[in-house]
Amino acid sequence: MRPTEPSIPPSPLGLSHAQYLSACSDLGIHAKRASEMYHKAFRDGLLPEPHAPQPIAQTLTEETPEGLTTKFLTTVPGTTKGPLAGDPNASTLEVESVVIPMLTRSGRRTFTLCVSSQVGCAMGCGFCETAQMGLIRSLTVSEIVGQWFNARHTLGNNIANIVFMGMGEPMDNLDAVLQAVDILTDHHGASIPMSKVTISTVGRIDGIRVFGERIAEPGWKRLGLAISVNAPNDEIRDELMPINRGMPMAELQQALLDLPMVRTRKICFEYVLIPGVNDQQDHARQLAAFLRPWASTPDRPVPNGLVNLIPYNPRRNSPWPAPEESAVEAFMSWLIEEGLFVKRRRTKGRSAMAACGQLGAAHIRKRRFVELSTPTGDA
Ligand code: SF4
Repeated sequence: MRPTEPSIPPSPLGLSHAQYLSACSDLGIHAKRASEMYHKAFRDGLLPEPHAPQPIAQTLTEETPEGLTTKFLTTVPGTTKGPLAGDPNASTLEVESVVIPMLTRSGRRTFTLCVSSQVGCAMGCGFCETAQMGLIRSLTVSEIVGQWFNARHTLGNNIANIVFMGMGEPMDNLDAVLQAVDILTDHHGASIPMSKVTISTVGRIDGIRVFGERIAEPGWKRLGLAISVNAPNDEIRDELMPINRGMPMAELQQALLDLPMVRTRKICFEYVLIPGVNDQQDHARQLAAFLRPWASTPDRPVPNGLVNLIPYNPRRNSPWPAPEESAVEAFMSWLIEEGLFVKRRRTKGRSAMAACGQLGAAHIRKRRFVELSTPTGDA
């Protein structure tokens, strides 16, 4: 009789603890050993043989007042489909992630990890660097969780928050994103609190409905939601964000109002302020009218929505400059006068092209520009 080969355990990065134990059990691996492997992977950064973290191709850093912002590129397998099909240079792709330092009110430094859910993006937002690439492919669950693994264990950052605001539209890859959230919040693993995870969307109404169903389940109600609004009305939003042509603002507003009332977290509304496009006082009034259900009122002095005002970071070949400081201050004060709770996002990583709306691998983008005469969906 031949001796039995020892079973090769699966990688823990794509599975919750319960799923890992079940997958290992199918392979004849004892639950105790499987659980130990899972803990070692997530807590000590030691993946079971023969698994290894996805390689980091490059890191770029920039000093900010809060600490070091780090953008890193992870290498993942390429694709035979999409805009890079047949391209011999596309046998590997790069996924971009950013580790952003934050100082808490008490002065403690924590890090937020901005993860990508896709390589490239199909949404075509006009202000966004990633849109220039088109969608190359969606990431797998383990490629999403692998970004956390590299940020935490390969680069050694203490990650307190996770935002799905990197390359891609998370609701275009929602099954994988929700499974990744399940793993990242698993108390046997990365143990990130659900209240520290945020999914950001351009406003895919079908995805918002699925999100609503999920947050009604036990343990999920504190999952964060951010909506990229970026425009005060349909006319401007149609131009900036092609998604709006099929899913206009009134429908988006209704989908958000339909979310179950179990929520205990504010919805975050992202607004990229672009000079000459969406920065006038009348725009602030129209935006406030759209956000009225989430503003403060005499009955609800604490608003249940938060506007995150983001000064535009010019993408390469941008038709628009960054806004003047005075324009950002003025827009912010108009929104506050309207009863909205507004935070201004400080721009970090602009020189490393790691700031919001600037993720996109230059060499892939360049190749795409050669292949196609017009960038997909760019408004
Ligand atoms: S802003 Fe987000 S959804 Fe829009 S194109 Fe860029 S990555 Fe895609």
